[in-house]
Amino acid sequence: MQKTIKKIGVFTSGGDSPGMNAAVRAVVRACAYHNIQCFGIYRGYEGMIEGDFVEMDARSVKGIINKGGTILKSARSKEFRTVEGRKKAHEQLIKAGIDALVVIGGDGSFTGAMIFNQEFNFPVMGIPGTIDNDIYGTTHTLGYDTALNTAVEAIDKIRDTASSHNRLFFIEVMGRDVGHIALNVGVGAGAEEILIPEEDLGLDRLLESLRRSKKSGKSSSIVVVAEGDRIGKNVFELADYVEENKTEYEVRVSVLGHMQRGGSPSCFDRVLASRMGVKAVESLLDGKSNYMVGLKNDVMNLTPFDQAVKGKSKINMELIRVSDILTV
Ligand code: ATP
Repeated sequence: MQKTIKKIGVFTSGGDSPGMNAAVRAVVRACAYHNIQCFGIYRGYEGMIEGDFVEMDARSVKGIINKGGTILKSARSKEFRTVEGRKKAHEQLIKAGIDALVVIGGDGSFTGAMIFNQEFNFPVMGIPGTIDNDIYGTTHTLGYDTALNTAVEAIDKIRDTASSHNRLFFIEVMGRDVGHIALNVGVGAGAEEILIPEEDLGLDRLLESLRRSKKSGKSSSIVVVAEGDRIGKNVFELADYVEENKTEYEVRVSVLGHMQRGGSPSCFDRVLASRMGVKAVESLLDGKSNYMVGLKNDVMNLTPFDQAVKGKSKINMELIRVSDILTV
């Protein structure tokens, strides 16, 4: 017979992303609405192993929906990767009477949750919190929309200086394995070229395209480069290569880095976090476990953890064509 859930633990794990606080708020308030207790677990799996828990009620999450980062802090735990570490975490949860978990994090955090579930038959539900949007089973991860807006705003500012000085800027954005951020931000900021991990543009085509831009009368150019672009050169090497092979631009580099992870979440991310938090709690109460909540066609859905972790999130190929057409 299915055990009734009375106490849910919620935690944030891996890299932080805007919207995590809004998701914590939604989990805590959904628990309060359904008359079950909720505990916040500090510093992800690290805090779980140490029993670093705090009871949370509806009022303890006031004023956080608009805050970046995570009030529960996040961490990476080596110990949780070991059976002994996970045993300690399980003992701490049992001691506190916590009988189900909501993990807000990326694929690594879900892998940990899946293993924990297999070992201890412990109910777990995941909320995808990462700016990279690299998780299968949802069109949007928490923080992705905010990161896009942050990066576009930064590139708009760089464009001002690029056009004042007739410069070519290589701008690196996050995305080691997938090019969602680069592609969307590139189209949104009107970049002349976008380099992503999914497609090898080739150095010759890049040079050719930049020369064409210059000839067509453009006074500045922006090339958006994902961290893991397929050409295999980092953004500084790319800039050196282009400068050596003369495109008649003065070349500069800007790495946006961690600023893309911070800041107040966009309205889209706040709404998404609210929906995901409610869905995660209600799915646990319905007896479901080992799933990630996600968004598809504006409907909340569930994807088994193993699929979410193994599946590949695909970029929108149409955007590549749109970008090619609009940079004529
Ligand atoms: P991000 O997208 O920001 O990298 P993430 O959730 O993928 O977020 P990871 O550092 O990969 O971040 O994972 C977070 C934590 O999940 C790890 O520090 C570890 O404690 C746990 N974890 C990851 N993989 C495993 C695993 N195979 N077994 C047990 N625990 C794991």
